[in-house]
Amino acid sequence: MTALPTLTRLAEALGVPLDDAALDRFARYRDLLLDWNQRVNLTRVTDPTEVELRLFADSLLLVPYLRRFREANPATPLRLVDVGSGGGFPGIPLKIALPDLDVTLVDATAKKVAFLDAAIAALGLADARAVHGRAEELGHLPDYRGRFDVVTARAVARLPTLLEYCLPLLRPGGLGLFPKGRDATAEAAEARTALATLHARLVAVDPAPLEELAGTAIVVVEQTMPVPASYPRRAGLPAKRPL
Ligand code: SAH
Repeated sequence: MTALPTLTRLAEALGVPLDDAALDRFARYRDLLLDWNQRVNLTRVTDPTEVELRLFADSLLLVPYLRRFREANPATPLRLVDVGSGGGFPGIPLKIALPDLDVTLVDATAKKVAFLDAAIAALGLADARAVHGRAEELGHLPDYRGRFDVVTARAVARLPTLLEYCLPLLRPGGLGLFPKGRDATAEAAEARTALATLHARLVAVDPAPLEELAGTAIVVVEQTMPVPASYPRRAGLPAKRPL
């Protein structure tokens, strides 16, 4: 098994110790990602150690939130949807760290969905699936709208647009977890209208608790009531005319 020293150390520091089965999956995931990335544009990160830090450990920043949410909502399994998952971030690392999660990975680009399907199969992930589609469309389908306990999205859009993509997928009481960059607080301020319109509230903007991941902050949102039926607006509008 290939050692993943950076991931092992950072995961422990986050209170998310990884067992041998999880580390083995992460190693295979890294190899598959870097291999496919030569043909399909999945990530700009190409250095193996950077994969451990910027993609894997960065995704694991969300694990403590999921654990706390699960304690408060013992309905099992927790259903998580990752919007604009791309190469699988943060959805696949979360599924590896918390195998009980039920994970749906959504992406609008067919080639990325082909990779996600391949990764799910290669890693033997049960209760995980990839869906090809745009969030604006899935958000109106009965199988997706209001069906999830948790929605995540990383590096997909600025927060007002992102909330319109993501929140219609949540049930009332559901949790939105959005890793953002250094201007997370400004983005959260920009998203006040979107939050009010979509009936959600900002819970926190938490800087990453580790020096090495200091560029990331987690925006935490709670869905308080169902999203009004007219949202998300038709494909393209949430980005073109953000709430
Ligand atoms: N979350 C990954 C990928 C980010 S790139 C990571 O952190 O590395 C953004 C991804 O979002 C792309 O794969 C793109 O296809 C997808 N995307 C953008 N807009 C979307 C939409 N409206 N619905 C679904 N997927 C979308």
